[in-house]
Amino acid sequence: MSSPPPVPDAAGPSGPGVEGPAFAGRASVPPPRNDENLTYLPGSPERTALKARLADMAGTPIEIPAVIGGRDVRSGVLHQVVMPHAHRHVLATWHAAEPQHVEEAVTAAALARREWASWSPEDRCAVFLRAAALLTGPWRATLNAATMLGQSKTVFQAEIDAASELIDFFRFNPFYAQQIYAQQPGSSPAVWNRLEYRPLEGFVYAVTPFNFTSIAGNLPTAPAMMGNTVIWKPAASAMLSAYYILRLLEAAGLPPGVINLVPGDPEAISSALLASRELAGVHFTGSTSVFDRLWRTVGEHISGYSAYPRLVGETGGKDFIVAHASADVQALAVAIVRGAFEYQGQKCSAVSRIYVPASLWPGVRDRVVAMMRELQIGDVADFRTFCGAVIDRKAFAKISGYIDDARANARIVQGGAARDGEGYFIEPTLVETDDPGYRLMREEIFGPVVTAFVYPDRAWPEILATVDTTSPYALTGAVFATDRQAVRAAQAGLRYAAGNFYVNDKPTGAVVGQQPFGGGRRSGTNDKAGSGMNLLRWVSARAVKETFVPPLDYRYPHMSES
Ligand code: NAD
Repeated sequence: MSSPPPVPDAAGPSGPGVEGPAFAGRASVPPPRNDENLTYLPGSPERTALKARLADMAGTPIEIPAVIGGRDVRSGVLHQVVMPHAHRHVLATWHAAEPQHVEEAVTAAALARREWASWSPEDRCAVFLRAAALLTGPWRATLNAATMLGQSKTVFQAEIDAASELIDFFRFNPFYAQQIYAQQPGSSPAVWNRLEYRPLEGFVYAVTPFNFTSIAGNLPTAPAMMGNTVIWKPAASAMLSAYYILRLLEAAGLPPGVINLVPGDPEAISSALLASRELAGVHFTGSTSVFDRLWRTVGEHISGYSAYPRLVGETGGKDFIVAHASADVQALAVAIVRGAFEYQGQKCSAVSRIYVPASLWPGVRDRVVAMMRELQIGDVADFRTFCGAVIDRKAFAKISGYIDDARANARIVQGGAARDGEGYFIEPTLVETDDPGYRLMREEIFGPVVTAFVYPDRAWPEILATVDTTSPYALTGAVFATDRQAVRAAQAGLRYAAGNFYVNDKPTGAVVGQQPFGGGRRSGTNDKAGSGMNLLRWVSARAVKETFVPPLDYRYPHMSES
C-alpha cells in the first residue's frame, strides 16, 4: 500500500448498534514499549506471588466451559487438562463444544459484530491496552502459572511468553492499527478522498497451537482489534491458559460475543465453520499439514462464501544454525543449547539442524555436550529446572521415534533417553549425521533433538546451498561468523531460507515490535504476527470519494467548436 501524507481524520461517531465507518479519532495510542521480563530472583515479590499461584492452581482443579456470546456453556462432554510433567495430575476438566454450540457461536459472533464494528478504534484498543495493564500486574502470576503447569514451561519460558509477549501484542497492535487508520489518500480541490478500513464481513476463525500462550492470545485479538468478531478454537493441550486469556479479556471489558471460546474436536468444529457462508478469515498457527487441510477445505467451499476469506497461517519450521570457520565457538555452543533445548525444542523457531565446519566441530561439540550434561530436567515448579516435559503422549511417541531412528541410522552424541512414567520427559539430544539429507535434517520433530552435519571448512558456498535446499520450510535460521564476507554470503545465499534471520544470535526469541515474526515457503503466509502487515489482513478497505461541487453539464470543454 502506498502511504501518502495523512490528511486530517474525519470523526465519524456511529450510534450504538449501528455499523458505521471506523475512522480514527483524535487520540493517539500511547507509544508502546516492550514489557520488561521480571527476574524471579529468590526473595523477589514476583517469585513469592508466582509460587503461591502455582500451589493454588495445582491444588484446585477447575471446570472450563465453552464461552459463547458471553455465556458459559457446559456440554457435559468432558476432557481433562493434565500436567505434562506429572501426567496423572489433573488441573482442570473442560467441556467440548457440540455441533449446536458451534452454530450458536456463529450467531453470537454475528450479533456481537453489529455493536463491536461500530466502536471507534480508540474504544476497541482501550480494551486491549487495559488487558496489557492487567497482565502486567494482577493477572501476571495467573497466566504464568497456567502456562507453566498446563504446558510445562519453566518460569523464564512462561514469563517471556504468557506475560511479556502477550503484553507486547496488546500494546503494539493498537499502535500499528492506528498507523493503518492514518494512511489516507490524497485529494484534489473540492474533492475529499478517504479510505475506510472496514472489518471483514462475517466472522474470523482463530485456531491456535499449544506452544505459545501469547500466540493463543494474539490470534483471536488481532482481528478483534480491527473490528471483527471471532470464533476461537484453542489447542486441547493448552486449555488452561486459553481459558484464563478469555477471562482476562472479559476483565478488560471485551463485550460478550466478540471472541467466542469454542474448544472441542478440531476436525468437526473446523468442518462446520469452514462451510459457513459467513467465514471471513482464518487466523491459524500450527503445523503445516493442518493448515494445508484448512486451506483445501476453504477451496472446496469457495463459491459458497459471501466474500473470499482471508487465510493467514504460520506453520512448521526446520530451523538452522550455519557456522562459518570464523565463528566464535563459545557463542555458537550457547546458541545451540538455548536455541535447541529451551521449552524442550517445542518452539516453531527452535534450532533443529546445525552445520559446523570440521575445524570447529570438536570444540563446539565438547562445549555443547558439557552444557547439556548440566541441564536439569523435571518439574517446572522447581525454578532450577531448564527443561520440563514435552506436551503429551503423542509428542513423546513421535520424538522418541526420531531418536530411535538416529540410534539406527546416525550417531547420538549426547542424550537420547526418554521416560514417560511420571511425565513425558525426553532428554535433550545431540545427533551427528554424515548425510545432509538425513530425515532428521529435513523433517520437523518439535522436540529437544538437534542434528549436526559437519562440513569441510572450504565448502562454505556449497553448505549454504545445502542449507537453502534441504527442507521445505523457511521459518528461522542463523549464521555465526566473524568474517563479514561470510555473513554477506549467508545473507545472500539464504535470502529465502528464513523469514526471521539472525546473525550471531540464536534463531529463537523474536520480540514483538523488534523482529516481526513469520516464515515463507511451507512455514506459512508470512504475515508477521504483531505487525501492521498482519492487521491489514483483517480489514477490507473502502475508498470513498466525495465531490463537493458536482458538474452540472455533461459536456466537456473540448466539445465546443467556438
Ligand atoms: P497442530 O497443527 O497439531 O495444532 C494446531 C491447532 O490446529 C490446534 O488448535 C489443533 O487442535 C488444531 N487442529 C489439529 N488438527 C486439526 C484438524 N484436522 N483440523 C482443524 N484443526 C486442527 O500444532 P501444535 O502441535 O499445536 O503446534 C505445533 C506446530 O505449530 C508446529 O508445527 C510448529 O512449528 C507450529 N507453530 C508455528 C508457529 C509459527 O509462528 N510459524 C508458531 C508456533 C507453532
